[in-house]
Amino acid sequence: MSDLLTFYDFRVLIPIGIAASVAYLGIYIWKYLIVWPIKTFLSLRFVILFFKAIVNPFKIKQYPPPYKPNKKRNSNKKTKANGTNEVQGKIVKRSQVDQYIFNQSTLNATANSIFSPEFQYCEELTRDALFEKYPDHAKKRELCSICIENLHSKDLLLLLPCDHVYHRDCLHDFKRTLQTTNSNQVVMVRCPTCQLNLVRLYQYYIDHGLDFKEVKFDNKG
Ligand SMILES: [Zn+2]
Ligand SMILES: [Zn+2]
Repeated sequence: MSDLLTFYDFRVLIPIGIAASVAYLGIYIWKYLIVWPIKTFLSLRFVILFFKAIVNPFKIKQYPPPYKPNKKRNSNKKTKANGTNEVQGKIVKRSQVDQYIFNQSTLNATANSIFSPEFQYCEELTRDALFEKYPDHAKKRELCSICIENLHSKDLLLLLPCDHVYHRDCLHDFKRTLQTTNSNQVVMVRCPTCQLNLVRLYQYYIDHGLDFKEVKFDNKG
């Protein structure tokens, strides 16, 4: 018997077999327990980032954010405003809005919003509906002071919180004209009659968690 090892000798085959098993196990562990989870994690992350990048330019953020009633702030208790005044009960006075210190960038974003959120706090209704709901307006024989025309029964109107009423389209045209003539400025729509700043009023309600349907606005207070 020669001591020379041949390949088929079990003293060679066993260590080779063990080494092969260990190597295979190592590769297996590397492949499925380390590389695969990392790859999956990264690819998922990139898939998400990829879709975000695709979707974002087309996504128009809903502005203004949907109204959420805030029971704590919108109660009858005194609500602390960031400015100099407090909202008490359900009445917002014009002077409170005038004195309130706004976050300028938020206010500008509201003013520049293509959704014209400031008009959301104006009631949209026909003249017939206006006269029925607010009989005081029926007595006044008002004109739309933008187009200086009578209000006709089926005309769509906007009733502003200051109680001034205009044709809806006239008010939107009024805003558009303001924007085109002051294209490099932030345009804040004001009531053409009493100069109430509708953007500031809207932002005031949002900042204080107030629902315009529940709050009475006092234009003279
Ligand atoms: Zn008009
Ligand atoms: Zn007004």
